[in-house]
Amino acid sequence: MKIINSIRHMQALAIAPEREGRRIAFVPTMGYLHEGHASLLREGRKRGDVLVLSIFVNPIQFGKNEDLDSYPRDMERDFQLADACGVDIVFIPSAAEMYPHGFQTGVAVRELSQPLCGARRPGHFDGVATVITKLFNIVRPDVALFGCKDFQQLTVIRRMTEDLNMPVEIVGMPIVREADGLALSSRNAYLSPSERQSALCLYHAITKVRELFAAGERSVAVLAREARAVIEGESAAAIDYVEFRDGAQLQEQEQADSSTLLALAVKIGQTRLIDNTVLGEEF
Ligand code: AMP
Repeated sequence: MKIINSIRHMQALAIAPEREGRRIAFVPTMGYLHEGHASLLREGRKRGDVLVLSIFVNPIQFGKNEDLDSYPRDMERDFQLADACGVDIVFIPSAAEMYPHGFQTGVAVRELSQPLCGARRPGHFDGVATVITKLFNIVRPDVALFGCKDFQQLTVIRRMTEDLNMPVEIVGMPIVREADGLALSSRNAYLSPSERQSALCLYHAITKVRELFAAGERSVAVLAREARAVIEGESAAAIDYVEFRDGAQLQEQEQADSSTLLALAVKIGQTRLIDNTVLGEEF
């Protein structure tokens, strides 16, 4: 497994497989890897001849009062997991090289970036779209894998690659959860043992809504009320949003159907967690 820091070096390494017709599979991450990341890497291993993992805590997708400086890091552990998943190249650029003095270009996926996390984290998805564009230009993947855990991010990236004719196949992968239902996230490391218990309210809200939907309930007002009641029953939890939107355009809906997305953002103490489900999809 090669560990590459320089952008030029990474670009040079990407050219050979392209010439030889070997496919590059790419998994961009912010590191502190867990089984969710591993599921993307294993699928990438199947889909590409060369598997590239990037680890980059992208400063331009963080707001001023967010957790950029405290974001968890453990490179040695990340390398072990990457190696076990068959990664060929780990690309770890520096922020200074990614955003040198004078950097001023951005990519914005206008409408899809507005609701949900976009409304609470202004500029977040511009930062994501911009860094993914840069990473695609550096790594030159044939296929890139993203988790449905960040459903809006996946939607934004699909739109961006289509709109800008990027020659990359985008693959969305299911949410990996702990045995008790908590969606894996690097940010779970912030949770104290009691917060870790409280964090289950996201999963419980999702399960409750899925049960009601399966029993025939279609009113978004009713479903939203029930989801909120589950989360509000947990004293350590503060709702950022509970929203039902169509899973394609992320437009608001009054009646749920099988493609409806339930998206949640909840603060557990100081830690903001997100989770989601598409009501008609397997769980
Ligand atoms: P991050 O390092 O949090 O930026 O995540 C990197 C990639 O891993 C993104 O495409 C995420 O959606 C994906 N990911 C994070 N957590 C999970 C999870 N629990 N299940 C599946 N994919 C995940």
